[in-house]
Amino acid sequence: MATILDGKEVSKIYRERLKKEIDQLREKGYRKPSLAVILVGNDPASQVYVNNKRKACSKVGIESLFYHLPEDCKEEKLLSLVKELNENPEVDGILVQLPLPKHINPQRVIETIRPDKDVDGFHPENMGKLIANLDSGFIPCTPLGIKILLEHYGIDVQGKDTTIVGAGYIVGKPLSVLLLNQNATVTTCHIYTKDLKKHTLNADILISATGVAHLIKEDMVKEGAVVIDVGISKKDGKIVGDVDFEKVKEKASYITPVPGGVGPMTVTALLLNTFKAYKNHLGLD
Ligand code: NAD
Repeated sequence: MATILDGKEVSKIYRERLKKEIDQLREKGYRKPSLAVILVGNDPASQVYVNNKRKACSKVGIESLFYHLPEDCKEEKLLSLVKELNENPEVDGILVQLPLPKHINPQRVIETIRPDKDVDGFHPENMGKLIANLDSGFIPCTPLGIKILLEHYGIDVQGKDTTIVGAGYIVGKPLSVLLLNQNATVTTCHIYTKDLKKHTLNADILISATGVAHLIKEDMVKEGAVVIDVGISKKDGKIVGDVDFEKVKEKASYITPVPGGVGPMTVTALLLNTFKAYKNHLGLD
């Protein structure tokens, strides 16, 4: 029976630590860190994510500024809001909640966010810094959250056969690079992978980020593997992950639940990235 990698609990520890650091800086007279959050349209899941992120900000003492634009908002309007926030010295981070309505090009929006305020880490400059293994950039929040979670439980990835299922721009791809930077032996699978099971069975660490409910069955997991589930989907009205949790937990050594695993760690990483941007802007350490 696997040990649960408790993202909620680990997040609590990191957020309390962050709150203390922010409180100490406030006592010295520094302003609050601030994050601008932009939501376009009324997607219910996005609204929940944005609310969670804003609540988490407020609990640690990060100010969040909220901009809610209508579904039919012109791309130009969104870009000019981003440009305005880029120039606002009181704003440390800018987050545009994805996905955007179809008529807006997300890549153009991402590239408009100034890299020093790109706390989601999606700007090509920050992706490039990740590949170059430079500390000065921002690592996308979900990969960073997973790295912190593994470190917290003392799970060393060096030399481990690590299979990542899903090669999306915001999770699978940057996570592959991040773990490679830590000397894991990384295999990245996707929809065109010929024999998925062969690769998942080989994994000491198996991470799935596809959004396909219960894609990973127990017969695809090696005995004693560490299993990280990034996926979020709905099955029979319930939120589930990519992993068939109930069965796989009997085989894994460690496993993340959904919800309560990677989700809270992603938000924690966003708070840490915003604090990093803030310290950079104020010239602190
Ligand atoms: P994406 O659509 O960009 O990427 C999905 C990837 O999965 C693609 O590379 C695709 O080829 C692969 N894939 C799809 N079906 C597959 C299959 N049957 N076999 C193998 N590979 C397959 O998605 P994304 O933005 O990377 O998100 C992936 C999932 O992670 C979604 O469920 C999303 O909601 C979730 N997510 C969770 C968090 C979190 O904080 N927990 C954060 C971001 C994304």
